Amino acid sequence: MITGFGDVTGDAKKPFVSPVPTRNRPIPKTIDSTRHGPATGGMLISLILTFPPVCRRVRVVCISDTHELHRELTLPDGDLLIHAGDFTFWNHTAKIEDFNAWLGELPHRYKVVIPGNHDRVFKQDPRCRAMITNAVLLINEGVTVCGLNIWGSPVTCDDAAYGYTTREERARLYASIPKDTHILITHGPPYGILDREPGSIHREGCTELRLAVMRLCPRLHVFGHVHAGYGTCHTERTLFVNAALLGWTCDIENMPIVLDITLQ
Ligand SMILES: [Zn+2]
Repeated sequence: MITGFGDVTGDAKKPFVSPVPTRNRPIPKTIDSTRHGPATGGMLISLILTFPPVCRRVRVVCISDTHELHRELTLPDGDLLIHAGDFTFWNHTAKIEDFNAWLGELPHRYKVVIPGNHDRVFKQDPRCRAMITNAVLLINEGVTVCGLNIWGSPVTCDDAAYGYTTREERARLYASIPKDTHILITHGPPYGILDREPGSIHREGCTELRLAVMRLCPRLHVFGHVHAGYGTCHTERTLFVNAALLGWTCDIENMPIVLDITLQ
């Protein structure tokens, strides 16, 4: 397991910038977004991050749970594409190869991908990592892009994917996330945040991940897995994005979520 940050920009020797100091702030017990309409393009959100710049402005395009329908997408261009897992449905390597080829056709300068519970072949056969050549693949590890420290994990709490089956195992994993993480990408949502169908009392998020997010306060947390939780919401310190694009009909029903991050 790698818990430090790698580098794809040549900036690795620069000191990592730190988010503004953490203070203990109460956050609501649960958070849900308003629903967004059918996809006609990207949904744009502006986000200002208050730490010294490496790049002045970064456009982040967030998608998740494309389940082999990636070629049906028309994605907005951007500096950084994030896919939060479940790019396959049945774990077939041919679909992974096609996903990787599709990634290579996209114009985004940087692409960061994590597997989801449907992509468990990456756990079953670690050699599959070599199939993703057109993006940075994160499996419980980090990378620095444009001065943004990103950490990603495919682990979910309800599917025993990637071997972290107990609460204690997940707590230990999330304790290894570096404190200076700006963007957290997990396949599953944290408990109580965009983790249920609107109106349902059944929440599917992970309580250990929720505790980690409250402790770390990343500026951005991107996830998917609970398709019905698609949308955005925020606390004072963290913007949460459930970027799951597949809907009940098993078609692409939601639009990519686009963030313009201004670094001050
Ligand atoms: Zn999914």
